[in-house]
Amino acid sequence: MSPVAVRFAPSPTGRLHVGNARGALLNWLFARKHGGSFLLRLDDTDTARSTEEFAKGIEADLRWLGLDWDRYAKQSDRFALYTEATEKLKASGRLYPCYETSEELQLRRKIQLSQKKPPVYDRAALKLTAEDRAALEKDGRQPHWRFKLNGGTVVWDDIIHGRVEIDMASLSDPVLVRSDGYPLYTLSSVVDDGDLKISHVIRGEDHVTNTAAQIQLFEALGYAVPTFGHFSLLLDAEGGGLSKRLGSLSLGDLREQGVEPMALNSLLARLGSADPVEAQAELPALIAGFDLSRFSRAPARLDPHDLDLLNAKLLHGTDFAAVRDRLPAGATEAFWLAIRGNLGRLSEAADWWPVVNGEIETVQEDPAVLAAAVEALPPEPWDATTWKALTQAVAAKTGAKGKALFHPLRLALTGRDKGPEMAQLLPLIGRDRAVKRLSVKQ
Ligand code: GLU
Repeated sequence: MSPVAVRFAPSPTGRLHVGNARGALLNWLFARKHGGSFLLRLDDTDTARSTEEFAKGIEADLRWLGLDWDRYAKQSDRFALYTEATEKLKASGRLYPCYETSEELQLRRKIQLSQKKPPVYDRAALKLTAEDRAALEKDGRQPHWRFKLNGGTVVWDDIIHGRVEIDMASLSDPVLVRSDGYPLYTLSSVVDDGDLKISHVIRGEDHVTNTAAQIQLFEALGYAVPTFGHFSLLLDAEGGGLSKRLGSLSLGDLREQGVEPMALNSLLARLGSADPVEAQAELPALIAGFDLSRFSRAPARLDPHDLDLLNAKLLHGTDFAAVRDRLPAGATEAFWLAIRGNLGRLSEAADWWPVVNGEIETVQEDPAVLAAAVEALPPEPWDATTWKALTQAVAAKTGAKGKALFHPLRLALTGRDKGPEMAQLLPLIGRDRAVKRLSVKQ
């Protein structure tokens, strides 16, 4: 058995979105689970649309997720290999020049469809004689090059789909080289997967039919054929097509919204699998529980609410040391422990910091309760028992209880009617601020 080697192969023509991140994560987990290597391959042969900035953005997004790569390749560095492969295919008669314009091909497809025939390339170019070709080229037509598929059926044992059989008569011979000489995805991807000894190609099921043609290409080029696994695509919670709300959001957007990378990883590692989603604070826990064969063909449904729940759950168990750098300057461990159970996003910590350490707008709704509280405030030091003592004293003095007691106090002390435990917050607010906030404005 060759060592496990997988790759994640985005095109640097945009930032990663949630769907891409899932492909990256599943490959990474597979590599780590099996002691294999993870290659980041930038599919940048489309030099007109690929940019260095997007490439850097993709790398930053992967780092944010915590997905490190063992190997790195850029297709734009590897054109010589693709040329070598085309020469080999030409020599073996598997690559043939075609001269149709896209308008001509489109028209042919329309005619085939109107005759209820599959819109498969009719291989008209194979019938061209050397003179025909010379005449076309004299007319200024540059050929694009197609890979001549063998007939019959291509079969593979897919990690997720099980046995897949594709009738090759249903496929057009794929174009491998454009008329301007640039290699297309099918060629460059197979050459790289073969040359870089990729053992498992794990990608979305939109590639299933490409796989059939690619298997023939691996064979034609003399490469070992990798094992394939095609995961189902992400749908949004309502099941309506690819998620517009979350699935198409870039990781940059999510990061800006304060989503914790491990919340996203925890969700994406399990969506579409038979295993339940669990909030995991560290990648190793996801590796331990990862099994690609537990993924099914059923669509993976992505619910933004699940991401929010995971995010909150992770924050509620996060240690101060892990978030210290992302908290407002000066924030203490006691502050973090007081508020963390109340957060949906880490950014909300910044809203609570002035409550214990600054000025806030307070709301004074029951002057009698507040006046009694000012009087009952004990001297410092305060601790987690102070709140109970204070509210008991105010209750005894005013007769207020339940919401009528707690609501005005919370509102005056924090400026909000909901939030972390007052027993935790009060000692952090401290006596001076408490007196100020409780004292009824005249
Ligand atoms: N660059 C290709 C894509 O983003 C890679 C597909 C593959 O994994 O083979 O679709």
